[in-house]
Amino acid sequence: MIELLSSLGCRVLKDEPLSMHCSFKIGGPADFFIEIPNEPALSEFLKIIPDDRFYILGGGTNILFSDEGYRGTIVRLTGDFKKISISRDEILCGGGALLSDVLKTAYENDLTGLECAIGILGTVGGAICGNAGGRDKWISDAVKSVEVYENLKREFISREKAVFGYRKSGFENCIISKAIFSLKEDIKKDSLKEISENMQKRLETQPLNMPNVGSVFKNPDGFSVGKLIEEVGLKGKCVGKGAGFGTSRKFYSKYGEALLQKTF
Ligand SMILES: Cc1cc2nc3c(=O)[nH]c(=O)nc-3n(C[C@H](O)[C@H](O)[C@H](O)COP(=O)(O)OP(=O)(O)OC[C@H]3O[C@@H](n4cnc5c(N)ncnc54)[C@H](O)[C@@H]3O)c2cc1C
Repeated sequence: MIELLSSLGCRVLKDEPLSMHCSFKIGGPADFFIEIPNEPALSEFLKIIPDDRFYILGGGTNILFSDEGYRGTIVRLTGDFKKISISRDEILCGGGALLSDVLKTAYENDLTGLECAIGILGTVGGAICGNAGGRDKWISDAVKSVEVYENLKREFISREKAVFGYRKSGFENCIISKAIFSLKEDIKKDSLKEISENMQKRLETQPLNMPNVGSVFKNPDGFSVGKLIEEVGLKGKCVGKGAGFGTSRKFYSKYGEALLQKTF
């Protein structure tokens, strides 16, 4: 298996520590960690490895791995899956493209519609899978269609046919390999204002100097989780020692800087 996948351009790592691949910096080894660079390699991979023996990982910014690691294969889309192209008011990108790069492309081409994604780390696949966004605006608002692989079948699904909701997409058991965002040509000034406001709010409320996954909890209908946590006196509660400052600094230099500089 390793020889075949390597010959298709995949990078195959054995006993790879998952702590290296997520923003929490926690997690034991995965039996195999495979980076898949293109569609032919992905198709072959899916023929070899059954659905229940692998887990697709994006940027690892919304995931908590066990200290025991993962008995199976962790898959990440790289190479062609990171590509981004633009056609008039649409952006076509691979599932492994960084969301911040997509936002940057949109901004540089005077396209608006993705402002809710400012400061959200990770990949297009991860963002669409969890329908990332703010409280009222989600990435699905800008999705035109998504290419997914499910049970060896490749399908193109339009936004109308998808079942997007608050932090859900219906693509949770698929591999999101491509997406098309349909944006609007707009005046840069308005877009920049919304981006700046969203970013400012984020900087005021999130500890970017610490390993974290942003807002961890989903808000129940009509409630704010943050408020509920405060009300029961759990704000600031800590069990164990938490991460060391060395880890925090590494995290900040990798993600914090990217967040502040790349997306503007
Ligand atoms: C500082 C900080 C701030 C954040 N702020 C926000 C926020 O405001 N709003 C918000 O919604 N989230 C936020 N997050 C959480 C996280 O960044 C988003 O949920 C992000 O979209 C996750 O993308 P990822 O590529 O890192 O996914 P991962 O964490 O790697 O994976 C998350 C899920 O997506 C699945 N997945 C990943 N790639 C694919 C793919 N190609 N096909 C199918 N499934 C896939 C995984 O299997 C997993 O179930 C924040 C995180 C941090 C660290």
